[in-house]
Amino acid sequence: MSNQSPVIIAGAGPSGCVLALSLAKQGIPVQLLEKCDSLPIDLRASTFHPPSLEMIADLDEGVIGKMLERGLRADRYQYRDRATGEVATFEMSQIADETRYPFRLQLEQYELTHFICDALVGYPCAEVRFGCELVDYAQDAVGVTAIVRTPEGEQQLRGSYLVGAEGARSVVRKRSEIGYMGFTYDEKFLVVSTSFPFEDVFEDFSYVNYVSDPEEWCVILRTDKLWRVLVPVFPTSEAEEAYYLSDEFVQSRLKRLHARDEDYDVHHRSIYAVNQRVAETYYQGRALLVGDACHINNPLGGMGMNGGLHDAFNLADKLQGVILEGADAEAAFSLYDRQRRELAVEFVQRHTIENKKLMEARDPDVQRKRQQMLMETAADPQRARAFLLERSMINCVRESLSVQ
Ligand SMILES: Cc1cc2nc3c(=O)[nH]c(=O)nc-3n(C[C@H](O)[C@H](O)[C@H](O)COP(=O)(O)OP(=O)(O)OC[C@H]3O[C@@H](n4cnc5c(N)ncnc54)[C@H](O)[C@@H]3O)c2cc1C
Repeated sequence: MSNQSPVIIAGAGPSGCVLALSLAKQGIPVQLLEKCDSLPIDLRASTFHPPSLEMIADLDEGVIGKMLERGLRADRYQYRDRATGEVATFEMSQIADETRYPFRLQLEQYELTHFICDALVGYPCAEVRFGCELVDYAQDAVGVTAIVRTPEGEQQLRGSYLVGAEGARSVVRKRSEIGYMGFTYDEKFLVVSTSFPFEDVFEDFSYVNYVSDPEEWCVILRTDKLWRVLVPVFPTSEAEEAYYLSDEFVQSRLKRLHARDEDYDVHHRSIYAVNQRVAETYYQGRALLVGDACHINNPLGGMGMNGGLHDAFNLADKLQGVILEGADAEAAFSLYDRQRRELAVEFVQRHTIENKKLMEARDPDVQRKRQQMLMETAADPQRARAFLLERSMINCVRESLSVQ
């Protein structure tokens, strides 16, 4: 690493990794700290929208090449009504003139972090430290001091800026006393993965399916390796949560989707709380926030991780201007905040809340109208195009860049 103080990034999730590689490519010293001993491999986001693919492609040909090779291309997605069997299919080819990548790439988010950490090895100005947990920090006029817990004990690291990319429980956000406004839903989401080939039993099944049902809605999507099913559950105690994770409950839910005598092979199951929150600011002096550290939302529509990636690219640009070109830091970070935070409130929160409301309506009349509206939209090329530009986040990235 050079003598220049590094930008310290806490958290090697998708947002932190993308930011680290973006800065390293500019020759900016960067220290990426990850509290785990290696990159976490857990089933979380699995959809990359077209703007994210374009940004990653512009960043590193090798990384996008590996992603495209490993991932599945979902060139359409469907809204299905289980009660009537009706299907609204949105064909991504309808926006092929708007993007180089007219598909959703279905790939586990940990694949991206692994590809990026492999790429970072080639940059002497970049250091990735595992088993290094940010526990506190302080800032002064010329830099930041990060206090980290490591197997060798507590250490202090000096940097030029500190970026909190450590997820929803961000230490940077909490220590900066930045409020995280919003709410937590009553229900949680149960996610189960299986290798059962749903495509063989449901006709014309796409890789991404939002399924409404009078009793229980669900999402069924295919990642590069497995099918994943997400259903809402309402645990009010640890015992209830354990029941929702039991074979009995998990098998009953899978068998409701498609009845079979044998049990499904279940590779993974987890329950997580669902929030809609946005930080009241994305920066405070030399401390900056990206990704889940500053916004979280329900996963319907796959906007959480993608929004975090878009933050990281935007912030990389601002940091580059400040560090390499001497741009005014306050003006640059204030622009970052306007371009990304206001959008998170207006666009991502609105769409994800709407998506969930559409899915969970139990009134058969509301469900029928919803399915009708989606089918009419999908059948009308102009409306389908407008829908796809919104839901694939192309519009919101363009709007974000037009904010001054
Ligand atoms: C269970 C679950 C399922 C999800 N499913 C979906 C989905 O299906 N679709 C979707 O769009 N989104 C989903 N999300 C949200 C999506 O995964 C996040 O939006 C995305 O991971 C955000 O990326 P990030 O890099 O900002 O944070 P994270 O991915 O949370 O990464 C943060 C990293 O920081 C590390 N870390 C934490 N604290 C510290 C610290 N103090 N010091 C150093 N390192 C630290 C963590 O170990 C982690 O590696 C899901 C989230 C969860 C929790």
